Amino acid sequence: MKNYDIIVVGGGPSAAFLAYEMVELHSDKKILLVEQGRSVDKRVCPIEKGGTCKHCKPMCNITCGFSGAGAFSDGKLSLYNPEDDEIHVGGILHEYIGVEETKKLIDYTDNIYLKFGADPHLEGIEYKDEVRKICNKAKKENITLIDIPIRHLGTEKSHELYLRIQKYIMEHGVDIMFDTTVRDLIVENNIIKGVQVQNSMDYVNGKDNTENIMADKVVLAVGRKGANWLVDMCEKHNIETTTGTVDIGIRYELPDDVMKDINKYMYEGKFVGRVGRYKDKVRTFCQNPSGFVSAEVYDNNITLVNGHSYKEKKSTNTNLAILVSHNFNYPFNKPIEYGRNIATNMNALGAGKIVVQRLGDIYRGKRTWKEELENNSVVPTLKDAEPGDLTFALGYRTMTNILDFIQSVDKVVEGFANPNNLLYGPEIKFYSNKVKITNDFETSINGLYSIGDGGGMTRGLMMASCSGVQMARILNEK
Ligand SMILES: Cc1cc2nc3c(=O)[nH]c(=O)nc-3n(C[C@H](O)[C@H](O)[C@H](O)COP(=O)(O)OP(=O)(O)OC[C@H]3O[C@@H](n4cnc5c(N)ncnc54)[C@H](O)[C@@H]3O)c2cc1C
Repeated sequence: MKNYDIIVVGGGPSAAFLAYEMVELHSDKKILLVEQGRSVDKRVCPIEKGGTCKHCKPMCNITCGFSGAGAFSDGKLSLYNPEDDEIHVGGILHEYIGVEETKKLIDYTDNIYLKFGADPHLEGIEYKDEVRKICNKAKKENITLIDIPIRHLGTEKSHELYLRIQKYIMEHGVDIMFDTTVRDLIVENNIIKGVQVQNSMDYVNGKDNTENIMADKVVLAVGRKGANWLVDMCEKHNIETTTGTVDIGIRYELPDDVMKDINKYMYEGKFVGRVGRYKDKVRTFCQNPSGFVSAEVYDNNITLVNGHSYKEKKSTNTNLAILVSHNFNYPFNKPIEYGRNIATNMNALGAGKIVVQRLGDIYRGKRTWKEELENNSVVPTLKDAEPGDLTFALGYRTMTNILDFIQSVDKVVEGFANPNNLLYGPEIKFYSNKVKITNDFETSINGLYSIGDGGGMTRGLMMASCSGVQMARILNEK
């Protein structure tokens, strides 16, 4: 039977940076990363090659494999505003280690990205006066525009950068098992003992051949892809959780021309507000100037929309997510299930594809037809999307929040509510099963830790990477 000091479940940015920092600390601990997808150089998405989503087996190449969701991400690293005494973006890492430590950790982690080839240029720091004017305009509409610097890697560059990290950590003694899924955790008397693994193809085909690998420290770094699996593990092994939030919404696509000021001055405009009748928190997220809308496949064949942009290949559209945060309590408190049901219904309406609809059609109370989309002034960058009617699947409350928000942002950015703009759905962020952890990131099971997006601590590349660095420092001391 194999034995390690530390097993990390997942090979996303949080896991990669944990491994990197362990190497930097000259740790003598034996580390294994178990990743259900492929090595980063073997990850190819058929949509990227100009085709359609083939529901890759055993795992979706967009979400799985070394560097996780980071590999095909646009690679926007959200930093922080030194004038702010709060961290606005990327989750709640600061609630465990404090704001000042988080800022230091962001600086340190940003330097690792630079070391591995990130572009030294920072977006969002040159045009302070212009940004202030837009912020003031937004304030009048009860919307906050978050002003933080962004380092943009670009999708194709992210791939190369993470490959360099993968090679580096492997050359420095970290073992990685690719195409291998952690099927179960081995827990005895509330103490972690190891993991049960299986070849990913056998796992999806429901075969029984598994292998046990032992370690007295196991780190869950499963990302949003593993959120579903994590729910099962928490139920099975009594890992304590708190009910989280589910963010449900759409991907919005509009001409670069409309977004030109935000794109130029900030690269990404993060608008947040509680407008309209419900006062739910609505935010724009993951803005991609001259970008491309993409699809990704999750467990149970759920297809979700996302977006990214390259450093060199450009479209003439900007895309961004508009997400509404939903919390539930009594008698229903299963946000992941709620989100999954919406996604399942919407996928059914699109025959398994992402559904796209013109904003004007929503106002007119009709679906969008293929011919109308072909003649639309905003040309969809996700060619594989199915024209249809999102309002059949998105709840009234979510849809109303989104439409009210679009109208409010239109007063700040003229043209934001143009009827030819496109809404794609569903975009859902499944980081809602919040695992209860100590300030050392330990769960209610002794020796079992949780980092990154999967357990609900982070939301985004920079913070997920920071959580990995911090985890390494904690484990090195143990
Ligand atoms: C298209 C796209 C664009 C994005 N753009 C940005 C952006 O510009 N900026 C930004 O900040 N964020 C962006 N994100 C989000 C960002 O990628 C994530 O926040 C980040 O990758 C989270 O890191 P993580 O390590 O927590 O999890 P992940 O990156 O999700 O990695 C988790 C890994 O765990 C593996 N795994 C899960 N369960 C198991 C199991 N049971 N056994 C073995 N392996 C398992 C998965 O295969 C996956 O590789 C984007 C995401 C996508 C999909």
